[in-house]
Amino acid sequence: MTSRWRVLKFGGSSVSTPEQWQTILQQVTDNIHQGYRVLLVHSACYGLTNALEEKIKTGHSVYKSIEQRLNTLAQDFAVSIDVFTEDLQQLHQLCELSELNNYQQAELLSWGERITHRLIINHINKTQEAHSLNPKDWLTTTVDDHRNPHSRVLSAKCQVQNNPQLQDKLQHQFYVMPGFFAADESGRTVLLGRSGSDTSAAYMAVLLNAERIEIWTDVDGIFSANPHQIPEAKLLLRLSYQEAREIAASGGTVIHPRSILPAEQNNIPIYIKNSLRPEAPGTILKHEFSPKKPRVSAVNTRHQVTLVSMESVNMWHQAGFISDLFAVYKDLGLSVDLISTAQTNVTISLDAADNVLTPYILAKLKDQLAPLCDVTIIANCSAVTLVGYRIRAMADTIASVVATFADQRIYITTQSTNDLNQTFVVDEDQADKLARALHEVLITRLPERDDFGPSWADLVARRSKTKTITQTWWQQNRQQLLDLAQQHSPCYVYHLDTISRQIDKLKSLTAVDRFFYAMKANSQPDVLSRIYQQGIGLETVSPGEIRRCLEIMPKSDVATLLFTPNFAPIEEYQLALQQGITTTIDNPSLLYLHPHVFQNQSVILRLDPGHGSGHHRYVRTAGEQSKFGIPESELPKLATWCQQQNIHICGLHAHTGSGILDHQNWQRIAHFLARGLRYFTDVRIINVGGGLGIKENPGDTGLNFSALNKSLLEFKKQYPSIELWMEPGRFLVAHSGVLLAKVTQTKLKGNQGYIGLETGMNSLIRPALYGAWHNIVNLSRLDAVCNYTANIVGPMCESGDILGIDRPMPDTQAGDVVLIANTGAYGATMASRYNLREPAQELIFRA
Ligand SMILES: *Cc1c(COP(=O)(O)O)cnc(C)c1O
Repeated sequence: MTSRWRVLKFGGSSVSTPEQWQTILQQVTDNIHQGYRVLLVHSACYGLTNALEEKIKTGHSVYKSIEQRLNTLAQDFAVSIDVFTEDLQQLHQLCELSELNNYQQAELLSWGERITHRLIINHINKTQEAHSLNPKDWLTTTVDDHRNPHSRVLSAKCQVQNNPQLQDKLQHQFYVMPGFFAADESGRTVLLGRSGSDTSAAYMAVLLNAERIEIWTDVDGIFSANPHQIPEAKLLLRLSYQEAREIAASGGTVIHPRSILPAEQNNIPIYIKNSLRPEAPGTILKHEFSPKKPRVSAVNTRHQVTLVSMESVNMWHQAGFISDLFAVYKDLGLSVDLISTAQTNVTISLDAADNVLTPYILAKLKDQLAPLCDVTIIANCSAVTLVGYRIRAMADTIASVVATFADQRIYITTQSTNDLNQTFVVDEDQADKLARALHEVLITRLPERDDFGPSWADLVARRSKTKTITQTWWQQNRQQLLDLAQQHSPCYVYHLDTISRQIDKLKSLTAVDRFFYAMKANSQPDVLSRIYQQGIGLETVSPGEIRRCLEIMPKSDVATLLFTPNFAPIEEYQLALQQGITTTIDNPSLLYLHPHVFQNQSVILRLDPGHGSGHHRYVRTAGEQSKFGIPESELPKLATWCQQQNIHICGLHAHTGSGILDHQNWQRIAHFLARGLRYFTDVRIINVGGGLGIKENPGDTGLNFSALNKSLLEFKKQYPSIELWMEPGRFLVAHSGVLLAKVTQTKLKGNQGYIGLETGMNSLIRPALYGAWHNIVNLSRLDAVCNYTANIVGPMCESGDILGIDRPMPDTQAGDVVLIANTGAYGATMASRYNLREPAQELIFRA
């Protein structure tokens, strides 16, 4: 029999239905026909590991729900449930335990893989001969691991090498093995860490001296950025191991960094493939693909980074000082990611993915470091990392991008000595913008590389052509829009029924008592009326907005208005309160300086949930503070003052940002605000702000509304007397609007196409300001084939006047009507008369 092996690994999303197994077995058969023997490594069926983790996180017994899931799986795969009797007994025992030690946790978490293994071996053997391998017979952990016991058991490492004796034991053509777990020296179950099945596959490939590893996932391969964040991200067809490792370590999620090293050391190529599209090329990792010229291959972002800045004059010329500092981290079991040092300061970053960063641990860290240095902890940072080869050679280009961020905080910059990566740590809300700018300059705008595949946006567009998807309102009404454009372009057109649909969706959040529409997103009177008539209050930020509201509603309805200004003159607050409008205060000095304005009034306080930090030295030197909100530390003093002055605090408010797709966000804000109840006992309103994200970029999944509602209902259960308020802007109006503009001229400069429109950043500034991505189509030739890419630009004298970069477009001519989608929010309201060019007018679509 041949000794040529291939190791194929399939992840949880690819192994959960019998249909998927048809594809998998087809791959196996193909390989066998080509003369290879196959070891197939699989993860647990979708949903099992998450449920098992819940037991560990919350202590709840998850037995019933898992038993149910297994029943369904057994039915789907037509395998008798009786074969699992012993496994279920074991699960039951583990679920009964109130506390699990490390080994019991490993036993519990590996249950998903073991049960999946039994399921599919039974399934496959109905039609094909497959042999089972037990990873505990093959993969044993190294004994010289000096990490803490938790890591040794739950994130174990193995030492492996090509092993002909073991290979001799395998006499069949096709083996199947569960991934993720292994054995320690005394035979107990240990885990190989997150995505451990990738690592199992790599280890086995080394043992078997395999010719290649195939990692089958549900994505097309490794991209030059997170495509959900940057749709122009390109598929990387060929990568060196080092680059892939750096990408995986800096935020890429396609393959686990630990699985790359064994393959690299043994020169085994890794093929990353999409199990939904087996014919697609994917990404290949090989030594031969090591770059020879300076390049950047990917821009990655990691969120939830915590910085610790340690400052002391003692560190200067002091032997052993740094070692004392780091001993504290070691004691607390915290792994340090980035380090940057200066004469009297060391700043390090802690990655939430590798560390358990509870407030308790951070407080302990601060306590233990305090005798050595001044400590500042900055939470909610993000790390933006460039991965490539000889990045230093591109310093000029990188500097030109970073320079435009001069007024933002870049907390630390680090560059690896191997010159394979450079990282910037910034505030979380700046990270996407920086990543987009760097990606654009270092990847999108550079000449095509032959190791780049299509962009994510292209792939999605190609696929959506073959799928029937529900048409948007503007696709259904194309001809009317073309007619409107002939007469009125450039113009924004709004579709009111789309707004009503979004309102219905919003109202599915039964946990929320009142909604207010943040009208700065779109203040067109008919839009406002439609929203107001459907029972949504209006949130205003200026006297102008208040006036606009009073034009569309009876004066007697002012109680449905909110006023949330920021650094506004005191007269505006006075006026709003006199009119009876609920007002939100976001600066305590207003109350200290002008108590008479607020005496005997009820107001809401806007708090700062501690995003970034105003107390860090970099901030102080930059003279910057977070503009919004009252810091929590101010509350005791403020509470006393309000009591003395008879200022009633009826509500607490926070708004953290825009376009948020993490459904946990608002529940976190609610709990943060609830901490303020101890100071302000009359509070009956908690306003968790807006920022609800929409599907914006191709591939976005949108916000999970039922999960959002569930999390808020849980909050309400805990605080039954509190009224929950929410104030979305974008969510209600973004999809309802399009911008129509005629093409003025087209141009070709080398390979770069330009399509010029009659309006640009004066009508829509989001692409220039935030790097926002809007779908752009030639509405006059909607069905024509896109045969080149062009930058879509406006007529302003300003090189930032760009609406879209490298967009696939059909042959386009002057006079064509171009449509820019999803511009109902922050389009017209942010327009300007820059260059003395009037921005696009606003129209309502009437069918
Ligand atoms: C802008 C704003 C909102 C709305 O934000 P969206 O991202 O449009 O939902 C809500 N509350 C306040 C205080 C705002 O400033």
